[in-house]
Amino acid sequence: MFQFYNTLTRQKEEFQPLQTNEVRIYTCGPTVYWFPHIGNWRSYVFADILRRSLEQKGFKVSHVINITDVGHLVGDGNEGEDKMIVAMKREGKSAFDIARFYEAAFMVDRDKLNILPAAVYPRATEHIIEQIDLVKKLEEKGFTYKISDGIYFDTSKLSDYGRLSGQKAEEKQAGARVDLGEKRNATDFALWKFSPLDSKREMEWNSPWGVGFPGWHLECSAMAKKYLGVPFDIHTGGEDHIPVHHENEIAQTMGADGVLEANVWLHNAFLMVDGGKMSKSLGNIYTLSQLEEKNIEPLAFRLFCLGANYRGKLNFTFEAVQAAQNAFDKLRETVRDWEVSGEKISEEYKNRFFSAIEDDLNTPQALAVMWEMIGDATCPSSEKAATLFEFDKVLGLKLDEFIGKKTEVPDEVMILVKAREAARVNKNWSESDRLRDEIAKLGFIAEDTSQGQKVKNVLL
Ligand code: AMP
Ligand code: ZN
Repeated sequence: MFQFYNTLTRQKEEFQPLQTNEVRIYTCGPTVYWFPHIGNWRSYVFADILRRSLEQKGFKVSHVINITDVGHLVGDGNEGEDKMIVAMKREGKSAFDIARFYEAAFMVDRDKLNILPAAVYPRATEHIIEQIDLVKKLEEKGFTYKISDGIYFDTSKLSDYGRLSGQKAEEKQAGARVDLGEKRNATDFALWKFSPLDSKREMEWNSPWGVGFPGWHLECSAMAKKYLGVPFDIHTGGEDHIPVHHENEIAQTMGADGVLEANVWLHNAFLMVDGGKMSKSLGNIYTLSQLEEKNIEPLAFRLFCLGANYRGKLNFTFEAVQAAQNAFDKLRETVRDWEVSGEKISEEYKNRFFSAIEDDLNTPQALAVMWEMIGDATCPSSEKAATLFEFDKVLGLKLDEFIGKKTEVPDEVMILVKAREAARVNKNWSESDRLRDEIAKLGFIAEDTSQGQKVKNVLL
């Protein structure tokens, strides 16, 4: 049975799905105004491991990831410009074109990381009616009030507002140094923002309260309800979402439907860079493409993420990710030599691997079990192969493309390798070096090992 650390209860709990064989998961998706950075990808790799692990244990998983294409303000709260408008100004394109471009870029990177596609990627702009309906419901139940720039949620009306972050509303109010303006409480947030009177926005819609656009938190409550129903099982996201975005999603669903939006709340810790925060101003935000430019494969980055528990901060450095790349190369090279015959699995390693995964997705421990098995000379390689195929259904490293796929060496290369062997026996080192260069020209590397020469394709 899975044990997950539930942010809501602040403890590891045995996971009980709401329906026997099905698990419904909602993951806060990308704001499509820019390329996702590797910190964002840590978040989606974690959600993917969660999903794959549940599927391997026989659950049918319904996974929804939203696409935020309106309403996410620069300040994450009610302040600042809409990130989509920022991108429009930066690129001189329509919000629609920007949203579709970065959404497509997201999907390209997702596939490079071998993240399984969600069942649906609902876009906020295509669910305006559902969002307006949710505000209407909150209005009917007395949770809303109107001020000059929009319709707001009155957090003081909800007795347990703040339960996710564990901060009482009054403490939050006291701690917040923000100017309340017309808001009644510091934690109150916009459900519907009015378009500025003096200018026309590209993204604005009619509503019972006036022309405007939805607040960022609204889309998740509305779309999760539409596609999964509430309550659903698991909500995931990065730790930055705990105090504002997820707190407010919970408030909206509790206010409108009187239920907890999701039973279990899982949050990944941040990916840091050189020990600090990733931020545009520090110029240390990296995309997957930037890693690829430095010959770091996306799947090596995936392996790098799995080397840390999702709840612990992970520090990104090029040295560390290069080490993951080297380990990945070695791993793939090793498994090429394995026999793939028979279905026999090592039950011992399998049990240890899955116990680690079921213990709050302890991927570092699961990887340690994997490495131990790889190095176990007493375990036949066919058994290791069959077991590693199973592990990889969770790890998602595409090892099936390598396990048992011995490097094909063409005859002309083999002739040179044999000649080099003879040169080495005769201690003719200059001839040996010349032949090594000839072999390299044909795209192969001749390595001298204790068992003689080993030939590798440089491309593999
Ligand atoms: P956004 O596109 O900004 O809404 O973020 C998408 C997801 O990435 C959210 O779940 C964030 O919490 C998460 N996230 C943002 N920055 C980081 C980071 N540095 N490390 C890990 N997750 C992050
Ligand atoms: Zn969300």
